[in-house]
Amino acid sequence: MTETTFTPFTVVYSDEFLEWQLENGVTDPRRALRATRHLVEECGDAITVLDPADIPVHEVRGAIEMVHTEEYAAQVIDEGISVEFPRVDHRLGEVAQLMFAGTMVAVREVLAGNTRIAFNPQGAKHHAKVERGSGFCVFNDMTWAALHMEGMGRRPLYLDWDVHAGDGVQEMLGGSSIPTLSIHQGSIFPTDPNVKNLELARAGERHTHHLHDKAAYNWNLERDAGDDAFRWAIDEAIDFIRDYKPDTLLLAIGADAHAGQALAIAGTNVTYDGFDYAAGRVRDIADELGVTGIVMGGAGGYQPLDHTPRIWANVVKRIATEA
Ligand SMILES: [Zn+2]
Repeated sequence: MTETTFTPFTVVYSDEFLEWQLENGVTDPRRALRATRHLVEECGDAITVLDPADIPVHEVRGAIEMVHTEEYAAQVIDEGISVEFPRVDHRLGEVAQLMFAGTMVAVREVLAGNTRIAFNPQGAKHHAKVERGSGFCVFNDMTWAALHMEGMGRRPLYLDWDVHAGDGVQEMLGGSSIPTLSIHQGSIFPTDPNVKNLELARAGERHTHHLHDKAAYNWNLERDAGDDAFRWAIDEAIDFIRDYKPDTLLLAIGADAHAGQALAIAGTNVTYDGFDYAAGRVRDIADELGVTGIVMGGAGGYQPLDHTPRIWANVVKRIATEA
């Protein structure tokens, strides 16, 4: 058996991430630590781990204010207030800012040509809106990444396979031409009608809900749909990516479509094989198109001590596997 070789990649991690305690258990940030450990232990010299504190705080604040209002940024960072926080807590505001900085480091490294692949396990806070937090997400790092990449002359595309729709990214990029592709369970949170087809009462059925004028593409899977449905959606998304020809992929690699989630959600029961299929297809289309940057955020995953970090690490490894 030949040994797998990995193309060099970057993970952005800080032990300060461990202070992201929302007191709900399921978002336990040790998932980020464990995923990083798996990758360090299993990828040898291919991995570089960088600290998100590398970016000066005032630059992070400026980037946050590019996609959120100044008032909202001040409320979270200066006052420690968010609907996602269990109490007023300045430290949580600072950690939210640091998690956003993690994606800034990932983007910086890709743009500098220092790496082709970068992963922020505490990134892809895809539900956050311009003026408020939502679904454990406070600052929308992927929206910033997409707009910043575009501003630097890149052609980015956003793909999200978290079990919950990437409603925040879709809404915040709605005024741009950057495509947002989201594969999710169609009858659970979030409730935004722009990600699912409610008019036809198809919430529990497999269907697409594409808004071409907003460059927003949604695949709604039914409850417990399994790997076949996930593969169907991934295959359609890959076809779209092939036609669009991005040079940069932004991925929300949520692991919460996995069966047996601790959070009481009715998910899609994707298995390890399903996630491996998705990662393999992304890897292959990236090679086929000559994609020069892949930035990944962990998004959701509520089995923080076992399946979530294992699935994240597997996906990153698969995407970083050399042909
Ligand atoms: Zn989720």
